[in-house]
Amino acid sequence: ITNHQFLQVVFVGHVDHGKSTLLGRIYADTDSLPVGQLEKVRAICEQQGKTFEYAFLFDAFLEEQEQGITIDTARTFFNWGNRHYIIIDAPGHKEFLKNMISGAARAEAAVLIIDAAEGVAEQSKRHGYMLSLLGIRQIAVVVNKMDLVNHDQKVFEAIVTEYSAFLKELGVTPRQFVPASARNGDNVVTGSDAMPWYDGPTVLESLGRFEKLPSGEELPLRFPVQDVYKFDARRIIAGRVAAGMLKVGDSLVFSPSNKTAVIKTIEAFNVAHLPLSAGVGKSTGFTLDEQIFVERGEVASLKESLPEVTDLFRANLFWMGKNPMVGNRPYLLRLATKEVEMELAEIHRIIDAGSLDPVMAREQIEKNDVAEVTIRTKKPLALDCFCDCDITGRFVVVDGYDVCGGGIVTQVLDNDQETF
Ligand code: GDP
Repeated sequence: ITNHQFLQVVFVGHVDHGKSTLLGRIYADTDSLPVGQLEKVRAICEQQGKTFEYAFLFDAFLEEQEQGITIDTARTFFNWGNRHYIIIDAPGHKEFLKNMISGAARAEAAVLIIDAAEGVAEQSKRHGYMLSLLGIRQIAVVVNKMDLVNHDQKVFEAIVTEYSAFLKELGVTPRQFVPASARNGDNVVTGSDAMPWYDGPTVLESLGRFEKLPSGEELPLRFPVQDVYKFDARRIIAGRVAAGMLKVGDSLVFSPSNKTAVIKTIEAFNVAHLPLSAGVGKSTGFTLDEQIFVERGEVASLKESLPEVTDLFRANLFWMGKNPMVGNRPYLLRLATKEVEMELAEIHRIIDAGSLDPVMAREQIEKNDVAEVTIRTKKPLALDCFCDCDITGRFVVVDGYDVCGGGIVTQVLDNDQETF
């Protein structure tokens, strides 16, 4: 099973609001634990004179899967209904933000946990903001520990009202609010007799309603040109299919030069017949019906769905450079195969990636900051919004020889032709 058959869901919540308990419940109630694990953890609790907790169960499960390897973002897997899930547990926000922005991890949906007795915490708000920064749109909010508030509908609704209003400011509309008790298993996998006033989906049913985001072949063609080789009289355009599919006979547009030509052959070594197509992820080369001059960094696509071409865009950026990122200074931007000089045109907002605290307005972006910025490049380049195509919507910032930051394109602005 490959990654793209899984729905990838991240679970976030303020410490102690019940994330591990909820995950332990999900794994136990869907029979996803290794045989004997539940009994083993119960026995250990008994031996140590502790009350059994579903959270211990999940922690033990996680430890076993990790096998002592330190990983930035822990992942666990389970099947339910006719779907596979990868659950991303975000222990630290810094690692999670870094992995998401760099492309090392991808969450298509999120479950956000709020303690019914504690209500909306400052952290719950920051988590909402973190999800909106990463462009995660499919969100279910679990109002957990309903048993501590007598399963009172009014408590649930007050949280729904308060948190929805907050998320609305961020432009996020959660798919679902689920009142639950992870400890008792109410509305986690099965419904709840304790909350007859609720007839919506359980936590697991909410997961089932999330959609798999289009990826790979379902997306329009994007072929970032890596190299152009000259063999005899022929030119071979080489690169890797970032999205969609290349087909012989397709009419290509190269951006930003806007040159067009038709694919004549797709090249391959040691084959009896040359292939007629090349799918996503494939490194390949092709020839064209006309000799046109294209260069590394251009993106080939079909005219019905061209990438954007601009020198000005908004992005969310994760900075990890020793030196802070400042304006009025050139950096190198690398997006797919394109390298171009860039500068920081404007900082809109900065937060500390570790604590998710907003940072007071300042002129520079420091190590482990996440920032909403506008970037200007020296020349226009082809790109996409991250939400439309992750490969041509993601970039890194290079300072000298070091990769110092990574970002995702959130909004393409009009070419501004201002030079620097
Ligand atoms: P995490 O830090 O978010 O992973 O929280 P845990 O899952 O470790 O839970 C923190 C505490 O809350 C533990 O003592 C749990 O037993 C308790 N807890 C979790 N879910 C519930 C619940 O639905 N009801 C009650 N009463 N306690 C819960």
